Amino acid sequence: MSESIKVVRNLRDLRKATSKWRQRGESIALVPTMGALHAGHLALVKLAKKKADKAVVSIFVNPTQFGPKEDLSRYPRDEAGDLAKLTAVHADLVWAPSVEEMYPDGFSASVRAGSAAKELEGEFRPFHFDGVATVCTKLFNQVTPDIAIFGEKDYQQLAVLRQVVRDLDIPLKLIGGPTKRDKDGLALSSRNAYLSEDERKIAPTLHAVISALAKDVANGADVRSGVTKAKRKLTAAGFQKIDYLEVRDAQTLAQPDNEADGRDLRVLAAVWLGKTRLIDNVAV
Ligand code: AMP
Repeated sequence: MSESIKVVRNLRDLRKATSKWRQRGESIALVPTMGALHAGHLALVKLAKKKADKAVVSIFVNPTQFGPKEDLSRYPRDEAGDLAKLTAVHADLVWAPSVEEMYPDGFSASVRAGSAAKELEGEFRPFHFDGVATVCTKLFNQVTPDIAIFGEKDYQQLAVLRQVVRDLDIPLKLIGGPTKRDKDGLALSSRNAYLSEDERKIAPTLHAVISALAKDVANGADVRSGVTKAKRKLTAAGFQKIDYLEVRDAQTLAQPDNEADGRDLRVLAAVWLGKTRLIDNVAV
């Protein structure tokens, strides 16, 4: 049986572990997660192992990035399962602070996310990215990684955190890992566990539709009519509500002035299937 992974739950023990590595001149990569780990998270951990001597995975369901009507209380949690998976991919350490350790009594300062946070998710989840920016800045200061790895699955989050790291001079390199998908195209997500059997059958249509739109736009199709067509397809497939489906500049996430001008573009979408909100994105 393989040895089980080291789990630390307070900052003192974390600093002890990381300073030992630092003294030996070893580099550290951090993969922040909210647990309920799947193959998408594990791919990021494998990437971390390739990029640095030590891979730290944080597991923290961050209350401040959930809105009052969101799924914080029912968010899936499975620490024992997570630890077994992380042991199998040879992560070096798990940082699993409690909410009280992360936000002790009197906690009050925060980081405000920048311009990349304004639209798309930001419109539907107004304080979400401030919560993400604050907790990630704390994680960066706690773990002091050389590299932090995030998934392209949360494409806007990656853009927001690139701004935070750049604008606040945080000394680490941010790396984005590609989205892992099920065979039918559905992006792996902890929230897929919420889907009923019937909803699970509809869910991969999201990837199919945004991929088709990306292909059409790449071939010079008119963006506006392409988006209208894609939305119609989603509704016909059974998605009850489309929060957004947009073609944006892949770097700034701004509306491209002239969409057909050969710029680097990204299709991003958030849709509802019953009580589950799914997000996905693809390159054009
Ligand atoms: P979460 O636990 O949902 O906060 O995700 C933790 C990290 O895993 C984030 O950087 C996500 O973007 C990334 N991630 C989530 N799903 C996937 C996926 N299907 N493929 C690759 N990375 C993912």
